[in-house]
Amino acid sequence: MLVASMNPCPCGHAGDPHKPCVCAPGQVQRYLAKVSGPLLDRIDLHVEVTPVPFDDLNRDRPAEPSENVRQRVVAARERQAERFAETDTHCNAHMRARDVRRYCKPDAAGQQLLKAAIERLGLSARAHDRVLKVARTIADLAGEETVTATHVAEAVQYRSLDRSGWGMG
Ligand SMILES: [Zn+2]
Repeated sequence: MLVASMNPCPCGHAGDPHKPCVCAPGQVQRYLAKVSGPLLDRIDLHVEVTPVPFDDLNRDRPAEPSENVRQRVVAARERQAERFAETDTHCNAHMRARDVRRYCKPDAAGQQLLKAAIERLGLSARAHDRVLKVARTIADLAGEETVTATHVAEAVQYRSLDRSGWGMG
């Protein structure tokens, strides 16, 4: 698994609620353009994180125990093992194009939302399949058989770096 991080802009404060970004707009776009589209296409989840205020670093906030999350992941893996039992695919990430068409077809509302998102964000064919695979996994984690608009919407959110104007507010 590849995990990578980058600053949102040269000064590092774009999107920071506490410190203003001092970069010129053109400068931010040139900075973000350094990461190529084909590379971003291959990264499944883009997540923007804002800085954690100092006082929050040591605070014990109620969070879901890792054991619960683990149970969901194990259950989702089992669903995938069942789905691909008769094939040479092992998990959602390894699905080929025809598997995506077969196993990730969203319901009508999900398809409509996907179409709108693709048109608005100008997603590539590769990113389109990634969205569907991630939506399938989100549905699996929720224990749901059908990929719905909710799952598609969450998956589309993870393509934030594909959006033109990312980091501009
Ligand atoms: Zn900046």
